[in-house]
This record gives sequence, structure tokens and C-alpha cells, in this order.
Amino acid sequence: MNRIYTQVLIIGAGPAGCATAIQLKRSGINSLLFEKDHVGGLAINANLIENYLGFPKGINGKDFVKLLDNHLSNLEIRLIREEIINISWNSEKELFYANSKLNYYKSDYLIDASGTIPKKLSIKNEKKLEELEYIYYEPSKLNREKIKNKKIAIIGAGDAAFDHALQLVKYVSEITIINRKSRFSCLPLLLNRVKSKSNKIKIINNKYIVSFEIIKNQNRSYIEIEFTDNSKFKCDIILIAIGRVVNDSLIKKLEIERKELKKLYQIGDVKNGYYRQISIASADGIKCAMKIAADCKINSDSNMF
Ligand SMILES: Cc1cc2nc3c(=O)[nH]c(=O)nc-3n(C[C@H](O)[C@H](O)[C@H](O)COP(=O)(O)OP(=O)(O)OC[C@H]3O[C@@H](n4cnc5c(N)ncnc54)[C@H](O)[C@@H]3O)c2cc1C
Repeated sequence: MNRIYTQVLIIGAGPAGCATAIQLKRSGINSLLFEKDHVGGLAINANLIENYLGFPKGINGKDFVKLLDNHLSNLEIRLIREEIINISWNSEKELFYANSKLNYYKSDYLIDASGTIPKKLSIKNEKKLEELEYIYYEPSKLNREKIKNKKIAIIGAGDAAFDHALQLVKYVSEITIINRKSRFSCLPLLLNRVKSKSNKIKIINNKYIVSFEIIKNQNRSYIEIEFTDNSKFKCDIILIAIGRVVNDSLIKKLEIERKELKKLYQIGDVKNGYYRQISIASADGIKCAMKIAADCKINSDSNMF
């Protein structure tokens, strides 16, 4: 089988992967950057990014990811729109192997910048309702026409839940944030902005969900959410924002010795725990590319003798 060779294979074109590819290009090291969905990663969901330097008025997530895409194109970064579905280490050849459904690859270095995946509520019917497009986990997946004048329930009380409410409020008829506690874990500025839109965004506290049901009647179908206190809530669409977990399904497939781990990097949200921010992910990418450049230089210098 013919494998396409690259010095560095990067999984994920979010801020971490893009920064790595850009910095590697500056060092003259070739890389392939893989993306299964869209360039810019999770940031597409942000209503307003206000803490990334260089944008004094903040920037909307969709505009931000467009800029990242342009940045990659301008620098002629080799972006491959394929999902990496398998990775392994060949200790004999000292190469990483990876493949998508379409192609096979090999590389000296492997960068896992695959970010996070949404946490599920793990309630009966959740999967079915997701397949039927009643349940979503990211606002960027919601068709703006489809949600026009609809009632949306957002489950969660962290930054993402409040950010989603502020983003969607201009399209929908009503948003209700459903919080299982009486406190919120979001930034105070997001809470205040949501409170200032109390005509359209409601908050209900201390509600534990036990089930979701689709209710179909002649005119329209909707979802009925039932809580532990037996009360019910009706809405058209549910957006779940109860946190994210690391996307480690691929990396778990690598069982390699410690020595070889030097050529494997995990960067950005996939390894940053609580500290999930664009600037931290980008900085990880730059640092990782600089380490690889230094490593390549040492190796090429030692080859001279
Ligand atoms: C609502 C919301 C608002 C936010 N607001 C801010 C903010 O204001 N400021 C801030 O700094 N941060 C914000 N963030 C956080 C920020 O978006 C993340 O920290 C950042 O995107 C992490 O970058 P990353 O590259 O590590 O991962 P991600 O952005 O998650 O990118 C990972 C990429 O890898 C791809 N991928 C995964 N697996 C594979 C595979 N097997 N093959 C190919 N591709 C794959 C994914 O499709 C994705 O594009 C916000 C996040 C959310 C959800």
C-alpha cells in the first residue's frame, strides 16, 4: 500500500492545529493539516470573542474562523479535508501511520489537535432526538431559517450556554436556559447580558431532567421535557451545553514506548483541561512547531557528520 509521506501530520484545524501548521511553514518544515469538518474548530460557535488580542471590538466566531481559513490559504498550507480514523506507530520504521477513509499517510511527527466533543446528558431518547434534529450540541449546526420564531431550550448554565443564548436570541421567539442548580457557572458579564434580555431569554433553576418526548399533533410537533418534580416544559428545539470532554478516541489507539513519545504532541483543548481558550491553543501550536523545528535542526546537523 502506498502511503503519502509528510514530516508532520496534524489532526484538527482548530486554532491549535492552524497555529502549528503556520509556524512549521515558517520553519520550512512540511506538514499536512487534516480537518473533518471546518477550519477554525469550536470557535465557530462563539457569539463574541473578546479576549483574543488584536480585535478591540471583539469578533464573532464565524468571522474569526473565516479569517483562519484565509490565513491558511494565503500561506498555501496543505489542508486536507478528511477525517483521520486510525493512527499507529511503526517502531521498526520510526514512523507514524494514519489513514482516512480515502488515503493512507505516514509521518515523522504526529500532532493531536483534535479538541473536544460535547458531553451528553445520557437520557433515554437523547440519541434519537439528535438524529431527528430536535437536539443539538453546537449552535453553528442550527439552520437559522429553521429556528426562526421557534422556542429553544438551552440546557446548562456555564459560559457556553449563556453565550449560545446571546447568539440565538435574535433569531428565535423565546429562549429558556434550564439550570439544574440555583447558581450559575458562567462569567458575570455573560449573566448580566442575558439578564438584560429578560423579555426573550428566561432562566429556570433547580430543574433535573428525567425524560424527553416528542409530542406530535395535527399542526406541529414539539418536545416535552419532564423534570424530577414531575413538572413539564414544551419547546421546539433543545441545545445541550453541559460541558465538553476530550476527544481521545484516536490517541488511545497508540501504545508506544516513552522514547518515541517525543515525536507525538497533544496540543490545545484536547489537553488543556479547564484552560480552554483560543490564545492558549494557538500558543501551544506555535510552541510545538518550534520544538519540532529545533528537533529537526539537531537531527539534520548530526546527519552532517
Ligand atoms: C460557545 C463558545 C464560545 C467560546 N468563546 C471563546 C472566547 O471568547 N475566547 C476564547 O479564547 N475561546 C473561546 N472558546 C473556546 C475556543 O473555541 C477553544 O478553546 C478553541 O477552539 C480550541 O482550539 P483547538 O484547536 O484546541 O480545538 P478545536 O477548536 O476543538 O479544534 C479541533 C478540530 O479538530 C477537528 N478534528 C477532530 N478530530 C479529527 C479527526 N479525527 N480528523 C480530522 N479532524 C478532526 C475538529 O473538527 C475541530 O475542527 C469558546 C468555545 C465555545 C464552545
